[in-house]
Amino acid sequence: GADRLSDFERLQVLGHGNGGTVYKVRHRRTSTLYALKVVHSASDPPVRRQVLREIDILSRTDSPHVVRCHGVFHKHSGDNVAILMEYMDSGSLESILNASGTFSEADLRGVTRQVLQGLSYLQSQKIVHRDIKPSNLLINAKGEVKIADFGVSKVMCRSLDACNSYVGTCAYMSPERFDPDTYGGNYSGYAGDVWGLGLTLLELYMGHFPFLPQGQRPDWATLMCAICFGEPPSLPCEASEDFKGFIGCCLQKDSSQRWTVAQLLNHPFVSID
Ligand code: ADP
Ligand code: MG
Repeated sequence: GADRLSDFERLQVLGHGNGGTVYKVRHRRTSTLYALKVVHSASDPPVRRQVLREIDILSRTDSPHVVRCHGVFHKHSGDNVAILMEYMDSGSLESILNASGTFSEADLRGVTRQVLQGLSYLQSQKIVHRDIKPSNLLINAKGEVKIADFGVSKVMCRSLDACNSYVGTCAYMSPERFDPDTYGGNYSGYAGDVWGLGLTLLELYMGHFPFLPQGQRPDWATLMCAICFGEPPSLPCEASEDFKGFIGCCLQKDSSQRWTVAQLLNHPFVSID
């Protein structure tokens, strides 16, 4: 019969986030490992909207570069909702950065290819992620990189403007999210995911969030000023020309100048070995 929550043994906490905790769990009968994202206070309307959106997106996606969902549990006694996912045994790219230090350019080439494939798939399904950053990209021992955490994602429907709302982690927000009129008339939410990818790659290479000096705690106003009025950050000179060029294409401030996922898949940084 169908599995119940009690069929899974909680082994450890993998991560904490907005209103939820992610556990590593073991299916008692088969010993298969999974990740279980338990969202508390799911009866609170904003939390509920977010978790239902995440469930909706995970249940309609089927890609080697998007984390797989194996089931959803609604606990009737309380207001918890739990999402059973494939376990990514090497954790997030943020946890790897913190534990093992910065990524090499060769590592990032592989990461980039896979994230672009994931984003390309999401676009084919009309999904904008809106929160691409190191902690939302997961990796396993096979070296597979997958996009996770669809809490603030959006399925595009009638108008592209539907995406232009204030969600996501503001540090990784693209200039057009703050000021659509100045930074690209033909605003599409997909371009924001490309910006997030560019910042993520810079952070993984340099070891700190690129808009701020190492160690500085971001506050919203400083960040917004840096993102909208500063030059986009770029790689240090020792990086290859292809890598620098690729980052430049992702971090065009004007979203209409920014490369699309399809264009980036043909960029020499990822298309040439
Ligand atoms: P939040 O909305 O709280 O950010 P996430 O889905 O991003 O939730 O999960 C929080 C953290 O938990 C991630 O950054 C990652 O470290 C860990 N995590 C989440 N899902 C998995 C998974 N499937 N496998 C392994 N670790 C995971
Ligand atoms: Mg997250």
